[in-house]
Amino acid sequence: MAKSYKIGIIRGDGIGPEIITEALKVLDKVGTVCDIAFEYNEMLLGGFAIDATGVPFPSETKEGVNSCDAVLFGAIGGPKWDNLERHLRPESGLLALRSHMGTFANLRPAVVYDELVNASTLKAEVVQGVDIMVVRELTGGIYFGQPREYLSDRAYNTMVYTKVEVERIARVAFEIAMKRDKRVCSVDKANVLEVSQFWRDIVIEIAKEYPQVELTHMYVDNAAMQLIRNPKQFDVILTGNIFGDILSDAASMLSGSIGLLPSASTGEGVGLYEPIHGSAPDIAGMGIANPLATISSVAMMLKYALGEIEASQKIDNAIKQALKEGYRTGDIGAYDAKEICNCSKMGDVIVNLIN
Ligand code: NAD
Repeated sequence: MAKSYKIGIIRGDGIGPEIITEALKVLDKVGTVCDIAFEYNEMLLGGFAIDATGVPFPSETKEGVNSCDAVLFGAIGGPKWDNLERHLRPESGLLALRSHMGTFANLRPAVVYDELVNASTLKAEVVQGVDIMVVRELTGGIYFGQPREYLSDRAYNTMVYTKVEVERIARVAFEIAMKRDKRVCSVDKANVLEVSQFWRDIVIEIAKEYPQVELTHMYVDNAAMQLIRNPKQFDVILTGNIFGDILSDAASMLSGSIGLLPSASTGEGVGLYEPIHGSAPDIAGMGIANPLATISSVAMMLKYALGEIEASQKIDNAIKQALKEGYRTGDIGAYDAKEICNCSKMGDVIVNLIN
């Protein structure tokens, strides 16, 4: 009997519905080819949820995500909702969703496809072959630390990491490295911050559980420079919340377009899989969004949430093949294009290349 999974679907706002439509076409096709059944549970979040229910994270969605094997998410937000009070805005709904799901590990691969080496703002010889996984701690550190306060003469935040928080994110990074090139570079600021020394000491302890993996350490300022100077030196980058926020955005630009890059947010429960970009209101409804970041997020979901490695690889291979054959969306259209596709056509191309 075919294996069966229940996938939570959040289309969201702007280009969200367009890119999710293409992602589901691809998921259906790979399901047929690999004999896997997917049941979709559509849920509301963000601006669309505000319009329909008055709140950005309705209780039905809160309950719905818990009963899924994984959640696939498009993007939320847009000018229509920008003037609402902060806690009622679409972005608050997304933060609340991540917190509710306990997704403490944010995985952001930065891969440069051979066909798109000229799409990067860096020289082709610098970016060709780049394949980095940034593992960012997502629910601790300075964004969440207490106390925090904004006063008339000063303001402060607190950077805190507990042993449990560092141990669990370090294990995620080492486990991923075991399936890759077996190298982890832990990025911190241990020369200045006690919390970073603590982070480093715990990462060294956890590394003892993974003797096959080479562990190195780098200060965050140097890491930012090295990512631009020689990104190929990295395999897995393990880092905390604020450093990962900055470094993963820098790493994403190595690939050439924000429309290419997927992400996974995982924890002890259900994982959330989404493109790294936003709802792109400037191109929403025009049918020209690049769906590849979302389709890649489907591949990550199959691999990390469901353990369906073959199905995941089929999607990755189809994306590479489509680029090799010269299919491009407008955002990457300037580079060796045979055909500039709209969003739907790119989805069809990927579907047809999965066999
Ligand atoms: P954005 O990522 O939506 O867009 C930045 C630029 O990249 C735009 O020019 C857009 O057209 C382009 N772009 C993005 N995705 C693309 C794709 N798939 N194909 C082609 N081009 C693409 O960032 P922004 O403009 O700063 O934010 C727009 C809205 O999205 C805001 O409301 C913001 O809060 C929200 N946002 C949501 C998320 C999320 O849902 N996870 C993330 C970031 C921003």
